[in-house]
Order: sequence, then structure tokens, then C-alpha cells
Amino acid sequence: MNIPLVDLTAQYRAIKEEIDAAVLAVIESGRFILGPQVAAFEEEVANYLGVKHAIGVASGTDALVIALRALEVGPGDEVIIPAYSFFATAGAVLSVGARPVFVDVQPGTYLMAVEQVEAAITPATKAILPVHLYGQPADMDEILALARKHRLAVIEDNAQAFGAEYRGRKTGAMGEVGCLSFFPSKNLGGYGDGGMVVTNDDRLAETMRMLRTHGWKKKYFPEMLGYNSRLDELQAAVLRVKLRHIDEWNRRRRELAAAYNRLLADLPLGLPVEAPGRTHIYHLYVISFSRRDELQQRLREAGIASEVYYPQPLHRAEPCRALGHQEGMFPVAEQASKELLALPLYPEMTEGQLQEVSGRVRSICLGILGVKP
Ligand SMILES: *Cc1c(COP(=O)(O)O)cnc(C)c1O
Repeated sequence: MNIPLVDLTAQYRAIKEEIDAAVLAVIESGRFILGPQVAAFEEEVANYLGVKHAIGVASGTDALVIALRALEVGPGDEVIIPAYSFFATAGAVLSVGARPVFVDVQPGTYLMAVEQVEAAITPATKAILPVHLYGQPADMDEILALARKHRLAVIEDNAQAFGAEYRGRKTGAMGEVGCLSFFPSKNLGGYGDGGMVVTNDDRLAETMRMLRTHGWKKKYFPEMLGYNSRLDELQAAVLRVKLRHIDEWNRRRRELAAAYNRLLADLPLGLPVEAPGRTHIYHLYVISFSRRDELQQRLREAGIASEVYYPQPLHRAEPCRALGHQEGMFPVAEQASKELLALPLYPEMTEGQLQEVSGRVRSICLGILGVKP
């Protein structure tokens, strides 16, 4: 039995009628860019998150770039980010010409180590950019308090945590700007690239709307250098259908994660740690194991997919080399890149599949460590 990391075809089968009708209606409408589907989806996401403005863009990466540009972050400015995330978190800061300033992540949760943020603030710091990694909200109370104290903006990288909550508030809705990704495998994913920026600030919203369409309000009269970065009608139509199911899917993800936790509890591995006051939505279920690469290889041989998110901490990525970081500067992030492994988890996964994966992980881990089961 082959078990994939995520099964988007199983999800499609479950909602095929709704999706097919929505997609066909867009094609028949003849409207493909910035039409009624995008407008309706923006309104629905704004309501869901409890924010004033939601603006569809072409990807999560573009969402980060557009948020930084709207906050006037550019050359000479610094943005504080965790040393462990998907590369786009650092890439977006570099692409607006600013400097990413890394802090390590916390052992266990792998979220931004908030206790290191204040020491990283300099007169050049413009923003703090926490990542709600794997679907778990970062320590927003501490981050927002520091930002207020030092007059910094907070940009939430919410690409992995649609629907997650921090002390009753939705992630993405707490900072100046929240950035979403609808990449197909994200917990709210389209059938292609897509992203969104959300904010309560009218002025930022207006600027971000301009930035996604060449920097103009009035067509053909750009007021700033913008982009062509739009969510399209087909994606919006698909995402509107999926938004109706997201709470149920997130609930199911939490249920599956709890089942994994029970079945793997007595093994010599690190299980996901839930910090207090948050609803982790398990975009990814990530364990740590000292001999991760062997575990992954043996799982692959058994037909079970797994994935390393991420094999390199951000400060070791080639485009960050010029910043002059050495190995050893962010030890938790470095260890995470060697030991973390995501196991299959998606709402349509069956109990049988979950038991199969858990059983294999058990026998392989004990085998590698030479422990008799
Ligand atoms: C996926 C992701 C992004 C980028 O989103 P894209 O839509 O792929 O551009 C940014 N940050 C994090 C943490 C992500 O997981």
C-alpha cells in the first residue's frame, strides 16, 4: 500500500461536484482576472479571519513582497525573521533589497525564538516577520508587545496556518499584514499558485491593491512601481468551495495528529509540541529523529512518502551567503534541518493508513537503534 504525503486527488473526489460546477461557471462567464469570484473570495476570507481587507495576489511569496513594499521596507532596512522556514520568508526580504536578520527557533515547536528578538533589533529594523510554522501560531503576544515598544511593523507569514488560532484570534489577523499562500498542498490550496494579503489598515490595503496591478489605481497611470500579481478567477472559485470545508478539514488534521501522537508516544523520537493557548492546524505533522535520513529511506522503500521541511536553515541558503553567517550560529535551526521529517497527513487519510505509517515508523526506528520491539 503506497501512502502519499498529501492526496489532492482524494480531496477532489470528495468535493468534485462543487468544484466542477464552480470551475465551469467561471469558464462560461468569460471573466478570468479580478472578477466577481476574486471579490467574493476576498470578502469571505476577510470575514473568516475577522479583518477589514483581503487582497488576492499571485502567490504567498508575492504576498510577502507586496506586504514589505507597502510598509516601505527597502534597501538599508532590516527585517527580523526565524532562521528556519521555507526559503520565501528570507527571499521576499532580499527581493525588496532589505536585510533579513535571523533569530533561532525554539526547540520542540521550531517557532521563532521570541526571547532572542529584542537583542536583534537595531535602528535599521523595520519589521518582525514571524512564521506560523507547520500550522502552529508563533508567540504573538510577545512579538506584538515588542513591535509596539520599538515601533515596528509585524508581518505574519501565515502560508502554513490558515484557520489556526492564537488565544482566540485567527493567525494572519494580528499583525499589520498577514500573508497567505494557496499553493496546492497548503491546507487551503488552489489548483495552481495563489496568495493573499490581509490587513485592517485602509492605507496599506490601498497600496497593496495598487502594487498587485502595476502600481496604479487609475488604469495605465502607475503611481509607483508595482507588479502583475493577481489571484485569478478560476483559483478563487476553487478556493471559495474549499473555504466552506476548511474548518472540518483542520479539525480532522488535529484528530489525525492526536492519533499519531498516541501511536508514536513511547518511541525515541521527538513528537510535535503544542505551545499553550493555540490551535495548531497541522498543515504538516513533523517528527524529529536523530537518524532521520535512514528513517526516510526505509519509509520510502516501504512505499510511504515523507518529506524534509527544510533540509537547510535560511542562514545557510546561497542567496543569504553575503550576510556572512557561519555554521553554528543558529544551532536549533541547524539541528532541525538534520532531524525533522514530515509524515503523511491530510484530511482524507484513513485510520488504516495512519496505523500503517505509525507501525512502519515504529519498526524502522527501533530497527535502526537496534532495540528489540
Ligand atoms: C509556501 C510558503 C510560502 C510561499 O508561498 P508560495 O505560494 O509557494 O509562494 C512562504 N512562506 C512559507 C512559510 C511557506 O510555507
